[in-house]
Amino acid sequence: MSVIGVGKEILSNCSKCKLILAHIIVTMKSATEADKVQCKTCKSTQSFKDPSGKKKKTSISKVIKSARGSGKKSTETVGELWTKALTKANASSKEYTIRGSFQMGDLIDHPTFGQGVVEKLIDNNKIEVLFQDDYRTLMHQK
Ligand SMILES: [Zn+2]
Repeated sequence: MSVIGVGKEILSNCSKCKLILAHIIVTMKSATEADKVQCKTCKSTQSFKDPSGKKKKTSISKVIKSARGSGKKSTETVGELWTKALTKANASSKEYTIRGSFQMGDLIDHPTFGQGVVEKLIDNNKIEVLFQDDYRTLMHQK
């Protein structure tokens, strides 16, 4: 294991420079983990970001990744996916009720969340719906 400590140099992913750069450790989280680091390039102090990128992504971003296809820019938001999904969805929208029955690609009108597109049938009573701001799991066929 490499020896790290306050005042030592460490490679961190600088959130300002957007680059993996040498940083000076300011504080330590534990004996082997840096906490705050200062970028030697822009001099800003920030949380240490492991450049090997072991951080877990949220499940939402995984869903977006798998829905996005290949070779596109990586900044597509839920709102943009929603806009695309709407253009591909069935033309006439159905009003959402828990007693309704919905299929993949159905355009639904939800009284609270607005328009959404059914992205996935989870099981007989659950569907995953893409709304403008987020994915939500809804009940149906109750
Ligand atoms: Zn920097």
